[in-house]
Parts: sequence; structure tokens; C-alpha cells
Amino acid sequence: HRRMSGLLEQAVARRAGRRPPGFRARRPRPDVTVCGAGFAGAVMARQLAEQSGQRVLVVDRRPHIGGNAFDELNADGLLIHRYGPHIFHTNAPEVVDFLSRFTEWRPYEHRVLADLDGRRVPLPINRTTLNLLYDAGLATEAEAEAFLAARAEPVAEIRSSRDVVVSAVGEELYRLFFEGYTRKQWGLDPSQLDKAVTARVPTRLNTDDRYFTDRFQAMPRDGYTAMFARMLDHPLIEVRTGTDFHDLGPDDRGEMTVYTGPIDAYFGHRFGALPYRSLTFAHQTLPQRQFQPVGVVNYPAPDVPFTRITEYKHLTGQEHPMTALTYEYPADEGDPYYPIPRPENQALFRRYLALADAEKGVVFTGRLGSYRYYNMDQVVAQALALHRRLMQVGADA
Ligand code: FAD
Ligand code: UDP
Repeated sequence: HRRMSGLLEQAVARRAGRRPPGFRARRPRPDVTVCGAGFAGAVMARQLAEQSGQRVLVVDRRPHIGGNAFDELNADGLLIHRYGPHIFHTNAPEVVDFLSRFTEWRPYEHRVLADLDGRRVPLPINRTTLNLLYDAGLATEAEAEAFLAARAEPVAEIRSSRDVVVSAVGEELYRLFFEGYTRKQWGLDPSQLDKAVTARVPTRLNTDDRYFTDRFQAMPRDGYTAMFARMLDHPLIEVRTGTDFHDLGPDDRGEMTVYTGPIDAYFGHRFGALPYRSLTFAHQTLPQRQFQPVGVVNYPAPDVPFTRITEYKHLTGQEHPMTALTYEYPADEGDPYYPIPRPENQALFRRYLALADAEKGVVFTGRLGSYRYYNMDQVVAQALALHRRLMQVGADA
């Protein structure tokens, strides 16, 4: 009887559209298990489900999807980015086309000011910056070029993040804008970092004060998390947040694994830990409409403990009587936010890469899986390309 009524209870509950207490649907084993619900994991999951008809289980140990691009409404109803400001920009039409299936866009061109002991000037360094700092009256690109040429210190071979800047603008501007900021952000002197790091911030002879010059610059209209929710909303995709990949039992492990966590963690840090730089985010709400004139103000001075302050309203366009800010404090310990680009780390990564290449049925991708200082669009492009390659291998087999 108890059994019958149990069954009945279940049937009634099913008809009523809710699950009875203790009811557990049997989930079929996935074809593919994806570790990480950030850009890399979500794009791979969508492509594998939609293009390849694979049953995909996505797990993330955090309690949410979106990886580091996760955004949310704070207690006061302001849209903030939990892991620091994420501004979308790209020159890759394929990436825009793919993401546009899951979001509308709000046009946004990012602007940054550097706070030099209270004086605020545009960054990247451009003609306006020079005119404000030196009262130089530079009217043309040629004049700006000559002005910088007189300061620039030639470097025979540009290797480090110091070389890039000093050879373009000279020691004084290097110190003002880059030395302190970089030492804080990375815990290293720019001379110890690959040139690619500071080369992200160009020097301009014109008066273009936008932080990026990509053809496509916009924010997902309803936020990143909403975009991820739509991307992962597919009948063949199951998402489990708050779940560590390494705790999964055999029933949850597909024939194939897509691993977007730190590659050294997958291999139990066998050769030693790959260095990552972390950050502590201090989120704050102020009872005023606006705090600063642009989305981000950088603080390169060595005696200021944070690197930058973000005011989200500029990015999101949200109308609200209050405003939300994030201060970024660099840290050695904590979540692995930045792979640290320098030759010895790349050498260690290559040892892990050799293990990865030999690991059957597992592919590594994303910023942590490939230990590369990638922007969001680069991670999306990488995942789309990886999926194409996998389909090709499948077709050839
Ligand atoms: P992640 O987003 O890190 O996702 C990996 C996921 O894997 C994480 O959610 C993690 O919890 C999960 N994971 C790891 N290990 C496990 C495990 N064992 N089990 C389960 N889950 C696991 N890019 C831009 O283009 N523009 C910007 O303005 C920009 N700003 C940034 C600002 C900051 C402060 C940071 C840190 C990055 C910024 N980026 C920006 C880069 C951007 O965050 C990344 O390119 C992108 O989010 C990487 O996606 P991903 O999927 O590779 O990695
Ligand atoms: N950088 C700097 N001063 C600045 C801005 C950037 O020295 O005001 C250097 C610093 O080393 C930083 C790198 O340039 O890590 C890249 O800057 P970007 O703004 O691209 O960093 P991200 O947004 O990825 O943290």
C-alpha cells in the first residue's frame, strides 16, 4: 500500500507539474562534461549541444554561471560586475554574430582617466594627455610625434613591458603612468614582464581618448549573466553550479571533457603551481547619482593601494538615484584572475601543455586552460575554433 500510494503520489505530483518529495529523475550520462561555466565553457557547451547533438553537463564550482564576466543586481538594485569591470570589444565579426544570438547590445565606448595625484588626464596617452600635462600646445600628429621622439629612449630589442613604454614615451611618462600601476597590479617590475602586457595600452598621436579602437564596442543589453543563461538554455545542456569538476562521479563524466579551469590544477600541480595574479574587489554603493566622469579611473601612484575605481553606470547606462563602484586591490593569493606573462611561466606552462596533449579525451581551453592573458572575445573565438577542429576530427575519423 505504502508503495502504491507512493507511486500515486508521484503520479499526481507529476500531473500537477511538480516533483514529489524524494523524487529523483534518472539523468542519462552526458556525452561531454564541461568544467567551467565562463565564456570558454558556455560557448563549447552550446556548440557541442547544438552543432554536434551532444548531451552536455556543465559544472562550475562557483554558485553561478558566467565565470569572471558574471554580473548581478546588488542589494540596492544596481547592476555590478562581481569580478571587476568587463567591457566587451572585438574586431571579430564571427564572435559578434555568435553572441548576438543570445543578447541585444548597448553601444558603449570605454574611456579611462589616470589620476596623477589629483590631476586627471586621458589614458591611453594621446595628444590631449600631453597638452594637459605639459601645456605643450601640440596641434598636429606630427607635432606630437616630434614631442615624444625627443623623450623616447631607444631600446635595441623590445622585450619587456618597460621597453615598450620607455621606447615610445620616455622615462618620465613611463614612471607617471606605468611603473607604479604595473608594480601594484602584478607585484613585479615592468622589466620582469613580457612586452605584451603594457603593449595592451597604446600611445596615440591623435586625440582619440577611447580605451579601445575595436570596430565593435558594446555591452550586453541585459547584462552578461542574462546572455549566459540564454546561451546555456538548450535541451541537451544541463548546468550544475556549486559543483567541483574533481568531485564528479563516473556517471557524470562523459567520454569527452572540456576543461576550462587552471591547467596546472587539472594535473594536481605536478610540476609546481603556475603563477596567477589575483585581486580583491571592494564593492561600494554611494547615495549620489554620479561619482566620477568616466567608467574607470586608474590610480598609478605607488602609495595608493588600489589600481582603479569603476563606476558601473557608465558601462550599463542604468538610471538610478544611487551609484555602485568597485575598487581593485591586487593580491597574490585568491582566485586565479591573471596568468602572468613572462618567459619562465610560459616554460612551465609548456610542460603542462605536453601532459595535456597526451591526455586522451580531454581538451583544454579558455584563459586558465591555455594560460593566456585573453580578453573575452579571444576566448569566444578560441572556443568556436576548437569546436570546429573537433568536428573536423570527428568527420575525418
Ligand atoms: P573564467 O571566466 O575564469 O571561467 C572559468 C570557470 O571555471 C570559473 O567560473 C571557475 O569557477 C570554473 N572552474 C575552475 N576550476 C573548476 C573546477 N575544478 N570545477 C568546476 N569549475 C571550475 N576581458 C575583456 O574582454 N574585457 C574586459 O574589460 C575584461 N576585464 C577583465 C577584468 C578583470 C578584473 C578580469 C579578471 C578579467 C577581465 N577580462 C576582460 C578577461 C575575461 O574575464 C576573460 O577573458 C574571460 O572571462 C575568460 O573566460 P573563461 O571561460 O576562459 O574563464
Ligand atoms: N597599465 C599601467 N597603467 C595604467 C593602465 C595599464 O601600467 O594606467 C599596464 C599594467 O601593467 C596593466 C597593463 O598595462 O596590467 C594592461 O592594462 P589593461 O587596462 O589592459 O589591464 P586589464 O584591464 O586587463 O586589467
